[in-house]
Amino acid sequence: MPWDRPAPERGGLPSAWSLFPEDLAALGCPGSALETFRRLHRPWTWQDGAPALGPGIRRWLEGVADLSLPRLVEQQPSEDGSTKLALELGDGKRIEAVHMPRRVRNPRVTYCVSSQVGCAMGCTFCATGSMGILRNLQAGEILGQVLALMAALGPDRGHELTLVFMGMGEPLHNLENLHRAIRLLCHESGLGLGKGRITVSTAGLVSGLEKLALMEPRPLLALSLNATTDEARSRTMPVNRVWNLARLREALDRWGLRRGEKFTFEYVLIAGENDTEADAERLADWLGDLRSAHNLNLIPLNEHDASTFRTPEEDRVQAFAQRLKARGCFVTVRRSRGRDIQGACGQLVKAPGLGRKDNEVGQERG
Ligand code: SAH
Ligand code: SF4
Repeated sequence: MPWDRPAPERGGLPSAWSLFPEDLAALGCPGSALETFRRLHRPWTWQDGAPALGPGIRRWLEGVADLSLPRLVEQQPSEDGSTKLALELGDGKRIEAVHMPRRVRNPRVTYCVSSQVGCAMGCTFCATGSMGILRNLQAGEILGQVLALMAALGPDRGHELTLVFMGMGEPLHNLENLHRAIRLLCHESGLGLGKGRITVSTAGLVSGLEKLALMEPRPLLALSLNATTDEARSRTMPVNRVWNLARLREALDRWGLRRGEKFTFEYVLIAGENDTEADAERLADWLGDLRSAHNLNLIPLNEHDASTFRTPEEDRVQAFAQRLKARGCFVTVRRSRGRDIQGACGQLVKAPGLGRKDNEVGQERG
């Protein structure tokens, strides 16, 4: 499948951002491989947007690896303090991310980041879904995305950073690259991100979920539920036709939550589609004994041109939330950040051409 092919590597070289210290050593690093890795992966030590490498190491590295980074090409600040960002990859394709500084206690920053260019899952309410999939991000591109953003906008240390894979793409559809990137992000000589600071959001790709459950380091899991009957869920989320609600629930039971871990559930509220009180009751039933181990985010739909779905009236949103609270659920109504700049969840879709449904990859789908 065309989208599954690796990104074009410059001159056949691997991305420098995808290499562990042992890879650098195996490639013949003339100095300390660990120190070289440290300089590459700690953007607060960079100078002029690039790692501060000695001339000898730089020359050697340029001969064995590709040092190019995704380019930050657009920044659109939103009224709520978040900023929608567009990054251009080596082959000219664009991905999007959102910068969300924490409002109360600074200087913590959460980035919502992408795992693919587009998405193959085809959820009917999602702008990214409407563009089809163009390709996977390579591990070096996922890392490059984070490092380029940090170099430009901070934060200045790994421990001030939180990452949520809720941008473009279905992360579990690109599991190998995603997990290599997570291992690099958590490396103690790099950003040193704790695994509790990375959340991977999935539409319910159970095959990937079961593999990720056994991987180390294992990130936190967010699950996009968005409907409470198989009929409704299969209508808006085609992945449900393969792995239905019962199968998904079984996979969560097998995940094996560890002390201090919780699942995050996301439920996009769509007027007349999934927002009745009966839906709220079924949702609480489905959660069952997970009710004490979750955060449930209700997200009133962000409307966009690629779908005719509408967001419910405020009183319906509140009634839905109240029903769930009465059943003991931990509910937050999330007004997606960046709504006014189309940078909120499900609106990360790129400009004309990229957003066409009839692109070559869209036809590969299904
Ligand atoms: N593919 C993954 C992660 C990216 S989507 C997933 O589906 O979980 C991130 C979140 O945005 C998901 O919870 C999804 O349900 C939500 N979303 C998609 N379209 C949306 C829209 N139009 N309005 C609000 N949230 C949306
Ligand atoms: Fe893909 Fe997630 Fe959008 Fe569904 S909601 S199309 S899985 S990005």
